[in-house]
Amino acid sequence: MTSKFGSDLFIDRHLGLGDNDERIMLNKLGFNNIDQFINQVIPEDIQIKDKSSEILPQGCSEIEALNELEEIANKNTKIRSLIGLGYYDNHMPKVIQRHVLENPRWYTSYTPYQAEIAQGRLEALFNFQTIVCELTGFPVANASLLDEGTAAAEAMAMSFSARKNKSSKVYLVESNVFDHTFNVLQTRAKPLGISLKRFTQSKLPNHDDVFGMLLQLPGKNGELYDPTFLISQAHRSEIIVTACIDPLAQVLIKPISEFGVDVAVGSMQRFGVPMGFGGPHAAYFACSEKYKRLIPGRIVGQTLSKNGEKSLRLALQTREQHIRREKATSNICTAQSLLAIISSFYAIYHGPSGLTKIAKRLVELRINLESSLAALGFDIPDGIRFDSVDVYSEHSHRIHNEALKNGYNLRILPLGSTIENSTGFGISLDELSNEKEIKDILTFIANIIEKEEDLEHIKFDKDFHLESLALRSSAWMQQDIFTNYQSETELMRYIFRLAEKDFSLVDGMMPLGSCTMKLNSAAELNPVSWANLSSMHPFSPPDQTKGYSKIISDLEKWISEIVGLKSVSFQPNAGSQGEFAGLLAINSYFESKGELLRKKCLIPKSAHGTNPASAVMAGFEVLTVECDDEGNIDYQDLSLKVKKFDNQIGALMLTYPSTHGVFELQIRKICDLIHSVGGFVYLDGANLNAQVGLCKPGNYGVDVCHLNLHKTFCIPHGGGGPGVGPVAASETLSPYLPTHFLMDNNLSNSFNFVSSAKHGSASILPISWMYIKMAGLSGLRKATSHAILSANYIAHSLKHKFKILYKGKNNFVAHECILDFRDLKSKTGLSVNDLAKRLIDYSFHAPTISWPVPETIMIEPTESESLAELDRFCEAMLLIGEEISEIENNHELKNNNVISNAPHTLKELIADNWQYPYSKEKASFPYKTPTNTKFWSSVSRINNAYGDRNLICSCNVNQNETLEEKKCA
Ligand SMILES: *Cc1c(COP(=O)(O)O)cnc(C)c1O
Repeated sequence: MTSKFGSDLFIDRHLGLGDNDERIMLNKLGFNNIDQFINQVIPEDIQIKDKSSEILPQGCSEIEALNELEEIANKNTKIRSLIGLGYYDNHMPKVIQRHVLENPRWYTSYTPYQAEIAQGRLEALFNFQTIVCELTGFPVANASLLDEGTAAAEAMAMSFSARKNKSSKVYLVESNVFDHTFNVLQTRAKPLGISLKRFTQSKLPNHDDVFGMLLQLPGKNGELYDPTFLISQAHRSEIIVTACIDPLAQVLIKPISEFGVDVAVGSMQRFGVPMGFGGPHAAYFACSEKYKRLIPGRIVGQTLSKNGEKSLRLALQTREQHIRREKATSNICTAQSLLAIISSFYAIYHGPSGLTKIAKRLVELRINLESSLAALGFDIPDGIRFDSVDVYSEHSHRIHNEALKNGYNLRILPLGSTIENSTGFGISLDELSNEKEIKDILTFIANIIEKEEDLEHIKFDKDFHLESLALRSSAWMQQDIFTNYQSETELMRYIFRLAEKDFSLVDGMMPLGSCTMKLNSAAELNPVSWANLSSMHPFSPPDQTKGYSKIISDLEKWISEIVGLKSVSFQPNAGSQGEFAGLLAINSYFESKGELLRKKCLIPKSAHGTNPASAVMAGFEVLTVECDDEGNIDYQDLSLKVKKFDNQIGALMLTYPSTHGVFELQIRKICDLIHSVGGFVYLDGANLNAQVGLCKPGNYGVDVCHLNLHKTFCIPHGGGGPGVGPVAASETLSPYLPTHFLMDNNLSNSFNFVSSAKHGSASILPISWMYIKMAGLSGLRKATSHAILSANYIAHSLKHKFKILYKGKNNFVAHECILDFRDLKSKTGLSVNDLAKRLIDYSFHAPTISWPVPETIMIEPTESESLAELDRFCEAMLLIGEEISEIENNHELKNNNVISNAPHTLKELIADNWQYPYSKEKASFPYKTPTNTKFWSSVSRINNAYGDRNLICSCNVNQNETLEEKKCA
């Protein structure tokens, strides 16, 4: 290794603490060295004894890692993919690439739960919803889902819970719906007892027990049809109709809601997001008013602030899994925020006329391609199409080979066949298609059939027609946002104006317990923009994607080694989907053994809401296990339940260290107990940042676990996504991990499909590859140790003023600590929410509040923060502690004080009239020691209830006012 010669090791940049800081902090806690300290925190019997690994990298500089990854990425063959099937090449405008995708203000921000300091991305997401509403004609849309397949599955699940006749169990899927979408539906349908039936649109099957139906426009063969009659027939039988519609086709076609459908879903990928070998991309979900309280995922809605400013925040949160738990119909948590934001800026960049131009050009090119192919003697099917055509021909196999030689991937028909046994080829055009490309394609095809001369007579016409299909006839996207930012200067300023309203890692520590907001380094993120990673179609032939294969197999090896399990699937697009996939694996295993009664899933009370929601989706019945006063699983309660339900127990789902931030001592005993009755242990790996390199779940009894690469492994949070939630499994369960029909030949065991693409959000896997490569095993171990050290340093610094709720062995916490404020309300009338807002005045993003215990805050500093930043945070908390005492002792008013009025805005401060009974300085510059950091909240305290009573989740065109000026609606 070059490191011998003193190369600049990445890990020293990743860590916030230098050797001297480490010494100071250890001293404060009473230790001389870090190993001694860690020995006191992590139970002896689970610590890794052997500190070396043949498998994990040794760590290196960013130069070395980038060079190696570049070499690997070069093994991918970048050619034009006209395969379509939900993935299309396009151009991300550079102004968006540089100022959004590659701007840490956008990508390092958190899910916008602290709305006052998230108005920028909330507005961008609100714009996304506005665009979806304008496209589909529906009044309500959410702020993104994970991908097209899962969005369709969410629509099915929503239809199922909204159905009138509770005995109906059949869901109809039109034959032209993508097969990969159908597979995802199948996986979701089975545990719910839904049976899927395929049909062709020309004939609605006669079923009394049908509750819903899914159509796709254009379908997998490119065909568009008018679904009006079909829908009216379906409605007569109270069937809830969902259409999966390509947003670019929707630019031309009359809004799908006007055809009568109840729900519209689809992928916004072709709005400026690279194919990225399958993801990440934002899916959309829109529906009529009637279903607004059943919509899955996050919705941004308008409301008012305390001072009457129009502002935005996440609406109707009581629908979500973190409130509804096992009663939730969806487990979605992390979605695709950043990608939704990129798509929204793409639509703003082009505006309605630009989008129309792109969509029309596609149709014109496709018409010319078809007529030329017909002139060459090919059979062009009848019907209306948008961008795609399927052609069956005896020359198919030669055409595919010639296409490859000329740099094109065509769709191999029938789907699932190989070039050798193919009988046809399909072509899907996209934003990058042009006349030259069509001529290129026609030329090599004409060569094959020896009709070059015929080609000379072919003329290209600017012919546009979509036959009998109803097109968009009235003006749309008339809001000012779609016309005000057509110049790059204006768009650049708009992007930055929004970004500056948001608190991100650029501004300071974001100590969000359980969410691990660590450094997302520039070197890790840089490869995401490399063309030979971003432009790959997920269904490209394997010999073109050898670079990805290598990245994915490296990452699988490394992660298997880190968690001590056999294999890993990267298909799940978020932790919640990893949970679903892992539990399905358990389910499938038991089914294969004929143990059909193992349907109980034990889940501790303290679990994240996604756990019970996922368990129900996977067909389990949730049994809640109590926790003791220390925050550990109540072993007695657990053993009673294990005894009682015995061979009905499928799984225990636990988080380790617990969501209370404690390393339970009995973890092995707990796992053994579950195994003793034949059940499996599922680990929610959200807290893996306390374990990497120090202990391995597989070694202490875990059978299957998910990881959140967007927590532990440096993928940024993106303001609420993308995420990657790979699921790792033991040898026994590995055969049941997710699979893919187009990309796996060997479907012997698993029929579990949890995403549309085999490797889910493949294009962001290089981020985690870079992290592990650069950190190496010793770096990872040091990162974990520092994360634990920092959390204990904070707990130690604050324990004199606040109660630390849970502690483990020897009175230490793990990588996060919980402060107890449950008596705050009775003493002062304040809640932890007030404290969260007050931290904004101190220029901090709040920690996680009221989870897993109401009226507590959970602080997770991670390993990336410096000692100075940790001290600044402790100082802020201690000063807030003093403010609480002043209120408690009646030195300040209970209902009008620095905390209850927080955050204080610049506008309030400079107003002629200062309205509060304390000084401006105390309100807005509260630190005793001067600091250079000052973050201003762009609005005063937001009123949530008002917005939920008056739901507005898109910019109403009739007012023609921009939200930017706070006038919308
Ligand atoms: C974040 C988190 C999840 C959910 O992960 P997503 O990626 O948001 O779906 C589940 N459990 C715990 C403990 C978490 O912190």
